[in-house]
Amino acid sequence: MIVEQIWTGNNWRNFNYLIACPQSGEAMAIDPLDYEKCLGLAKDRGWNITQVLNTHEHGDHTGGNSEVIAATGARLLAHAHAQDKIEGMDVGLSAGDIIKVGSSVELEALDTPGHTMSHVCLLSRTDMPALFCGDTLFNAGAGNCHNGGHPNELYMTFASQLAKLPAATQIYPGHDYIVNNLQFTLDREPCNKRAKTLLDEIAEQDPDQARVTTVGLEKEINTFFRLANPEVIEKLRDVNPDLPANPDEKTVFKALRELRNSW
Ligand SMILES: [Zn+2]
Ligand SMILES: [Zn+2]
Repeated sequence: MIVEQIWTGNNWRNFNYLIACPQSGEAMAIDPLDYEKCLGLAKDRGWNITQVLNTHEHGDHTGGNSEVIAATGARLLAHAHAQDKIEGMDVGLSAGDIIKVGSSVELEALDTPGHTMSHVCLLSRTDMPALFCGDTLFNAGAGNCHNGGHPNELYMTFASQLAKLPAATQIYPGHDYIVNNLQFTLDREPCNKRAKTLLDEIAEQDPDQARVTTVGLEKEINTFFRLANPEVIEKLRDVNPDLPANPDEKTVFKALRELRNSW
């Protein structure tokens, strides 16, 4: 499996992706908003884009569909419940569905509600697993729930699916928000040395060569995976005096998600 992370350089800081089968040269475009960059890169590599996948229905993920499909004839895949929200869908995905790209790449669809209620992540079935996570999980952060999502479901997605992935799983999110997110982590947990060193390491990074994190690293630096951390809980108490003595992880997650909305 070859993965190309495409930095759009737009105001929303979107990442688009091409996933290619090295044997057949077939490729899948994920959320190809910057269709010119996606089509251009595929052409440079000699790849045929045969599938477009939208992680969810928001316009900054679907906005390049029609141009890519017009140029390639690719079929369009998204969450089964996005059928009435995404124009021209060919395939509706459910949890556990396997998507093949060419002869060598297999990706499993995960049903990951929270940012919206029709959001899929793709997990590669490769020696080095990779997760294409749209706006559900960001480097050092979590998606918001403002436009069709719910924090209860986002918490369940984190706790019951993402936290259980192998530590080596590589993270390919839909946006480059790592600097702001690490600053939020440090606001909530000032003693987090790993977040501080990572922020120093990536502060000046070129998003064209962005650091790829893993689930293992995220558990060290992403507040939304650090729900039992005593410092996180104590600092939350400053702004939420009613927080119970030993708050459950869902309560902590929702309080953090709420704080991040206005941070
Ligand atoms: Zn979104
Ligand atoms: Zn987005």
